Formats: sequence, C-alpha cells, structure tokens
Amino acid sequence: MTHNDRVVLFDAMVEQSLAGIYVIQDGLFRYVNQGFAQMFGYDSTDAVIDKLAVSDLVCPEDRELVAENIRQRIEDGLPDIRYVFTGLRCDGIRVQIEVHGRGAEYLGRPAVVGVCLDVSERRQAEFDARRAKDEMARLLAEADHARGELLCALEDQRQAQEELRFADRVFHSTLEGVAVTDVDGCILTVNPAFEAITGYTKAEVIGKNPRMLQSGRHGAVFYRELWHSVTMSGQWQGEVWNRRKSGEVYPEWLTISAVKGEGGQVTHYVAVFSDITTVKRAQEKIDFLAYHDPLTELPNRVLFRDRLGHALQRANRDKVPLALLFLDLDRFKSVNDTLGHPVGDELLVEVGRRIAGVIRASDTLARLGGDEFVLLLEDESDARQAAIVARKLLDVFSRPQRIDGHDLTVTASIGIALYPEDGDDVDNLLKHADLAMYEAKSQGRNNYQFFAPKLTAGAFERLVMENALRGAVTRNELVLHYQPQLDLASGQLAGVEALVRWRHPELGLVSPGQFIPLAEEIGIIGEIGAWVLRAACRQMVAWQAHGLVVPQVAVNLSAQQIDRDKLIALTAWTLMESGLAAERLELEVTESMIMRQPEQALEALGGLRNLGVTLAIDDFGTGYSSLAYLKRLPLDRLKIDQSFVRDIGRDPNGEAIIRAVIALARSLGLKTVAEGIELEAQAVFLCAEGCDVGQGYLYNRPLPADELFSAWHDRIPV
Ligand code: C2E
Ligand code: MG
Ligand code: MG
Repeated sequence: MTHNDRVVLFDAMVEQSLAGIYVIQDGLFRYVNQGFAQMFGYDSTDAVIDKLAVSDLVCPEDRELVAENIRQRIEDGLPDIRYVFTGLRCDGIRVQIEVHGRGAEYLGRPAVVGVCLDVSERRQAEFDARRAKDEMARLLAEADHARGELLCALEDQRQAQEELRFADRVFHSTLEGVAVTDVDGCILTVNPAFEAITGYTKAEVIGKNPRMLQSGRHGAVFYRELWHSVTMSGQWQGEVWNRRKSGEVYPEWLTISAVKGEGGQVTHYVAVFSDITTVKRAQEKIDFLAYHDPLTELPNRVLFRDRLGHALQRANRDKVPLALLFLDLDRFKSVNDTLGHPVGDELLVEVGRRIAGVIRASDTLARLGGDEFVLLLEDESDARQAAIVARKLLDVFSRPQRIDGHDLTVTASIGIALYPEDGDDVDNLLKHADLAMYEAKSQGRNNYQFFAPKLTAGAFERLVMENALRGAVTRNELVLHYQPQLDLASGQLAGVEALVRWRHPELGLVSPGQFIPLAEEIGIIGEIGAWVLRAACRQMVAWQAHGLVVPQVAVNLSAQQIDRDKLIALTAWTLMESGLAAERLELEVTESMIMRQPEQALEALGGLRNLGVTLAIDDFGTGYSSLAYLKRLPLDRLKIDQSFVRDIGRDPNGEAIIRAVIALARSLGLKTVAEGIELEAQAVFLCAEGCDVGQGYLYNRPLPADELFSAWHDRIPV
C-alpha cells in the first residue's frame, strides 16, 4: 500500500469512526471528526473546529479537571490518560464522556490528541444497575427487618396468648374467689371459687352489686373507710364477714384493687377473697384451749384464777360475800384403774355436765385437772347459799351415771372457803377450799366441809336444813305423790304408795331420802309422819268422792315412829277422822327398823294389826332379818327391794333371790309386792314366778294426786 493509499484509508476510518476524535491546541479544538461533533449535538465539525474552546463542551464542575489533564499532557509531557468527565452538549444535555488523551505534535506544535466515547448510557445503565442492586439490597433488608418484626410480633402475641391462657387457668382454678366489677360496681365476671364460696352461680350475680353478699355485721362507717382506702391508695385489704346464699355468715380475707386504664382513670375493680372460716375456727380453738380444759371444755386453772381475781375485786368493791367450792371425786382413781381411762374420761365429762346442770349462770365451774373441780359462787353467796349448793351437788352425785354400759356412782368430797372470812386473795381462798376438801375426805367422803372450823358440815347443815324443815309442815311445804301398785296378773290397780316430797323454796322438790334422816335426827319425824298419814287417808276419801276407788294406800313409817306407842293412837284417830276403812291403809316398815328394837316393834305392829290396818315389810332382802323372827311378825305383805328387780335378766343370783323370797312369802302366807319395775321383761318374769303386785316406772312414776286421778279414774269400774 502506498503512503497515499494509507492516508486515504486512515482518513476514511477517522471520519467514519463512531468514536469522537479530536485535537486540542491552545485551548481550542483544532480538529474533530463527525462522530465527535454529533456526540455533542453539533450537525457538522465546522461548528466546532477553531470555534469552540475546550471549556465550552465541559460542564462547569469538571472544567478544571479537564484543563489540568490537558496541561499535564502538553506542558509536563505526562503519558496517556483515560478518564470520564461530564460533557455539555449544545442542547444543554449533560453527557458522560470517556476520554483517552495523549500529548502529541500538531502542525509542529504541542497538542493533545484523543479519542472519546459517550458512555452516558453505559454509565446510566451501570448506575441504574447499581441503584437497582442497592434498592434490592435495601428492600431485602427491609423485608428481613419486617420479617424479624413480624416474628417478634408473633412471639409477643404467642406469649400474650400464653399469659392470657395462664391467667385464665389461674382465674378458673384458684381457690380464692374472684369478682371483677366495672367502675359502677356491677359484677362483670366471677370465677368458680367465687361460686363455691358464696353459693351463688355466675349467672345469679352478673350485673349485680357485691353488696348483695353483705352480712349486716359491718356498719356504714366500715364500708366508707374501705372505699376511701381503695380510692386513695388503689387497694384495700382486710377481714370481712359476708353472707352465703344459704344465709350462713362467714369470714373472708378480702383484697379489693382498682384497675386503671391507659389514661389513669379507674376502669374496673377486682375483689379477691378467701374463705377463712376454718382458719378462724382453728384460731378460736387455739384461743379456747389456752383457757379451757380440752376434755370437759370447762375453764381451766388459768381462766378460773382470772375470773376469781375479778370476782374478788367486785366483791371487795360492792362489799358482798363470795363462796369457793373445791370438789374432788371420791375413789376416782379406782374407776380409772379398773375400767380404764376412756371410761374415766367420760365420767369426768359427765360430772362436769351434771354440775353445770345445777348451778346458776353467774357461777363459774372449772376443772383444775385430774378429778378436781372448783366452783365459784358469786351473787352475794354466803355460807348458807354455799351449803345449799354443796348439798345439791352431793345429791347430783348420788344418782348413778351410766357410762359405757357401767352404772357408776361416784361421790364427791367438797371443801368450801368463803370471802372475806377465809381469805381475800385468789391463792388463799383456793388453798383453804382445798384444805376443807381434805377435811371432807377425812370425814368419810361424800360430804362437804367449810374451811372455818366453826362451820363444820353437820352443824351448818343442821342449821340450814333444820330451820327450813322445822317450818315445812306449818308452811304447808310438804306434798304427797302416789305411786300405783298393780295386780300383776290382771293389771288392775291394787293400791298406791304415798311418798312424801318437800317443796323447798330454793331447792325445789326435795326427795324424802334427803330430808327424812334429818327430820329423824332433829326429832320432827313424828310431826311429818302424822301429816303424811292424815293427808294420805284424806286423799283416799277425796278420790272416792270423785269416783275413783283406790283399794289401798301404803304409808311409810320411820323407825322413830315405831318407837312411840303414840303411833297406834295416832293411826286410830286418823282413820276415824278421815273416815277411811282400816283395811284400806297399809303401813310399811323396814327390816332394819324392826331389828333395832324387836320386842317394841313386835308390840307396836301387833297393836296396829288389831286396828285392822295391814302391814308390809319394805325393802325386803336388804336387811338381816332372822327368819324365825319374821314368822312372829303380824305381816301381810313383803316388798321385794328394787335392787333385786333390777337384776332380773342380768344376774342369776338376783333372780334366785327373788324366787326364794316369793317361796318364803308363800310359806309364811304373805303376798309379795315387787318395787322398781322398769322393764316389761321384769314384769313378765315376776308374774311368771308368782309375784302378786308390781310397782315401778314401767307403770307410773309417783304422781301428784290429781294426776293419779286423771290417769286412773277411767280405768276402774266404780
Ligand atoms: P321406798 O318406800 O322403798 O319407796 C320406793 C322408792 O322407789 C320411791 O322413792 C320411788 O319413787 C322409787 N321408785 C318407784 N318406782 C321406781 C322405779 O321403777 N325405778 C326406780 N329407780 N325407783 C322407783 P322416793 O319417793 O324417793 O322415796 C324414797 C324412800 O323415802 C322411800 O323408799 C321411803 O323409804 C322413804 N319415804 C318416802 N315417803 C316417806 C314418808 O312419808 N315417810 C317416811 N318415813 N319415809 C318415806
Ligand atoms: Mg316404801
Ligand atoms: Mg322400798
């Protein structure tokens, strides 16, 4: 190829090149090709060559960079450079131009020759791609974040649900009652424990006010203070007595809390409570046990000393007397030893009950331990009062107590100390009452003794009872009760036994066993016996006048009456005065009465027999009568003692004795009367054995005259 060919070829290549080709000299474009002109928006190269300065095609911010690069190529001779700048097209559009420039000579002078490309699109694409990538990354990050947040939210929600479920489970299964109300106090919900404790179902209380549970035990002030506390501090806690649906009032431990909303205002109230009935009961029990004997539930020594202390203060202030009774069971130890402690314990409980049954509400009974009881009599109790109570107690003990199948008769010894004479403080009074009790023991037990030696039991008892008993007849305090005696074979009324009672203004109805011995001792039995005889005979006549014919009345005689020969005269006179036929009167004597002075008795009985009255021997079998002697007595009937009757069906010996007595009576030509029949089986046995007459609670207790009349007047043909 020639040089010329080559010039033509290069020229064509340069002219046709899509890349821009340029030559810069003196800051002006000396040569540009078509591609360059078009790159900058010019139609022809003429518009650029020698017309435009470099800076015309460079955006202001890159002009310095471009000028420096050109200077370095031209002046410093630095090697080729390749860079991108922002060009400025003639239409003002910015374009990204990549330049490859090199220092060179043009027309013999330094210049820069270079090639440039419009890389705007590529750049944009690159930029866009980068942007897209960034955006993508951002989006991914955001998505990631969102996913994270979502997971957190889900976890929170799961936890919240779990918590809710847990709270719900607690709400439903807790033993504490829970009620939630709105601000106005209307119940919104309650839990099962609420239903269990109050007895109301949820449906019954929803919409109601918890006031419906109030027991009425707390006043308005209580509730006002409660709500004041809830309002001020958001909470109240305490003990409240509420009422169950059943009406039962019970204690609960209650906490009321105010629940606040976001804004701080109260939205709900929650009441949580537990039934503390059992706790309270246990507490009360503990308190009780500190001051009471667990066995008998009576006050213990501690409480008794306290009460005695207070009673002494009052007595001292009011100048009134007090009495202290110290009571110890006789031979209690043998009960424990022979029958065992459970029986002993039960006996003590029963003793406590019996004593409590005869004392006044103002008296204090305590068990000091073992078989020791103390009784404090307040209410102006002097020696006389104390003696009356002591007697009552001895009487109470004389009745057997049925414990665990055993009939136990446990007597007591009682010591009495009085305030102020025997001591004016707790210790002295207790000590002196105790000493007096030992005195009672040494006096043979089953009695009472005063501490003050001058007031020994016998003397004082006589003083009290004597005075009272002396006037009993004149004050008309005696009454007769009548106990029917039945013909065992026919069930017909065979007669009655007259049994005396003393209607004492303070002691009530006193049984003859208690006052007959004293009457004998003080020598007034004659007076009483005469009254009884007269009253009984008159009653027989009175009944008859009203249409009740009682075949016979039996009157008990006392030993002292037998001793007197006045008895025959008295009987004769009484029969005459009343108009009762002699054979309708029976007189009862006991074996021991007769055996005391047999000859005298024989004489007296003979005289009575001559009057026409019949004679019976009472309580037969308990004394020691000689058979030979019995044969000599002018007797009609023999009364089998109730102790044998009680043995029927239980003790073959007792039954054998009854058979023997009936046989003996028959051999002596006497009729038999059985006393104390309480059971049908006893009656059946006695009847089968040939006993004639029966008497006992099975048929009737001893009755007042009018009651006997009503009970029998219809049943007897006149
Ligand atoms: P007594 O003559 O052997 O009288 C029977 C006693 O047994 C009465 O007691 C009577 O209430 C009671 N008794 C009757 N049936 C039953 C029964 O089924 N079961 C039990 N457990 N007891 C029953 P009371 O009235 O207390 O008389 C007791 C004793 O007092 C009499 O025993 C008698 O010895 C004497 N007594 C009663 N009245 C007089 C009287 O006017 N003068 C005299 N000197 N002594 C009298
Ligand atoms: Mg009798
Ligand atoms: Mg009897």
